[in-house]
Amino acid sequence: MSFEAVIGLEIHAHLRTASKIFCGCSASFGAPPNTQVCPVCLGLPGALPVLNRAAVDAAVQAALALSCSVHETSVFARKNYFYPDLPKGYQISQYERPLATGGVVELGAGAAARRIGITRVHLEEDAGKSLHAGFADSDRKTYVDYNRSGVPLIEIVTEPDLRSPADAAELFARLRAILVWLGVNDGNMEEGSLRCDANVSVRPAGAPALGTKTEVKNLNSFRFLQKALEHEIARQIELVSAGRRVVQETRLFDAASGRTISMRSKEEAHDYRYFPEPDLPPLVVDAARLERIREAMPELPDARRARLAERYALSEHDAAQLTQSRAAADYFEEAIAAGAPAKLAGHWMMGELARALKEAGDDIAASRVGARALAELLALLDAGTISGSMAKTVFATMYASGRPAGEIVAAEGLAQIDDERQIVALVAEALALHADAVAQYRGGKAGAFGFLVGQVMKAARGKANPARVNALLRKALEPGP
Ligand code: ADP
Ligand code: ZN
Ligand code: MG
Repeated sequence: MSFEAVIGLEIHAHLRTASKIFCGCSASFGAPPNTQVCPVCLGLPGALPVLNRAAVDAAVQAALALSCSVHETSVFARKNYFYPDLPKGYQISQYERPLATGGVVELGAGAAARRIGITRVHLEEDAGKSLHAGFADSDRKTYVDYNRSGVPLIEIVTEPDLRSPADAAELFARLRAILVWLGVNDGNMEEGSLRCDANVSVRPAGAPALGTKTEVKNLNSFRFLQKALEHEIARQIELVSAGRRVVQETRLFDAASGRTISMRSKEEAHDYRYFPEPDLPPLVVDAARLERIREAMPELPDARRARLAERYALSEHDAAQLTQSRAAADYFEEAIAAGAPAKLAGHWMMGELARALKEAGDDIAASRVGARALAELLALLDAGTISGSMAKTVFATMYASGRPAGEIVAAEGLAQIDDERQIVALVAEALALHADAVAQYRGGKAGAFGFLVGQVMKAARGKANPARVNALLRKALEPGP
């Protein structure tokens, strides 16, 4: 029997706000433990939450970008459970009335397009972080850092529309790209800014009903998500094929062994006893506010990709590459605005620039060769002032030194020899010095031509325009009248 996997994701994303969701503490990452805390985010008795408007705006942007309906009224709820990193004994989240529902993200294109439903996007607070290692007495004690307690999060829940681990990883990557593009999340998965839980079940291919699912918690890389799902699907298929049942439970992925391990079963599952948060009024996002947020949003990745492809006649592949991030698309359009030919700019961004950025570990937004500087170099190349190979040399110098292209070309005498009289003289000189090669060429040995081109280029120290050298050499070798 052949089986089909069914997958739904729950993604938690930190919102990039200056302060936390219900207090004025800094939401920044990396401060010494427990230096960004107050009575509210420590859950001290009597402290009351006040909602951060910037977190709401960011969440609404994310919801709109995922084509969700944003509800005018949503309600905060208490999710009750006991854990040392949760000082109040409950997390403020949204439950029955979330901020937004009913969105969609499209994977692939054309006939291969897959539409993945977005069930909901809701706002909540993060918990603190237990520190199990790194202290002299870590073998006996666990410490807790509450800096993260109260950092604003959105949870994005997808419909069970995914059918393969690769699609799940692609969707997670797409969500990350959209959130980073909007500027609402920093995309830093190592720091926990973006985390993913994967729900998965299997069923006989084509069966209408869903199988029993398991949930694999806390997958913080695309590769781990894919690996965990591959293992979990294989495990479930093996169980079902052996006539046994999948137990509904929460599992953890062990990266070292590549396996998933049972964490708690349905019987041990939490009963969160959700109820409406009495300390916060319902959240109201009226039409005017929604419109203001919509208007302030940048052009979204899909729209920008389509616009650039059409406007600059880019291939689908190139358009996708050049809009991988908002910074890349901005760079491309800034280079064009500064006079770079579009095709050439795209080609160089995906070639030399991408290589240099990768080697230096730089982000394109912090490229040592900015869009205008690249445009200047490409103008020299386009005008034939420098050859393609020289442009690469100049680019490397630009990247290392930060100096502009024109200055490097002038200072190092790199300008291409393009002048016909100069090249004719170089050709004549080569023909005189290598009469034997000329005789061989005239005797039918075509390879001698390449040798003569090489000699002219050598005399020009590589700087002669190769196309002109070719043409003028051929002309000089033509039998006279
Ligand atoms: P729970 O009640 O366990 O929270 P939900 O119905 O809220 O489950 O769904 C949580 C996530 O699990 C969603 O992403 C949803 O798409 C996914 N999901 C639900 N049922 C299944 C299933 N049978 N197989 C795979 N994924 C599922
Ligand atoms: Zn606080
Ligand atoms: Mg649920």
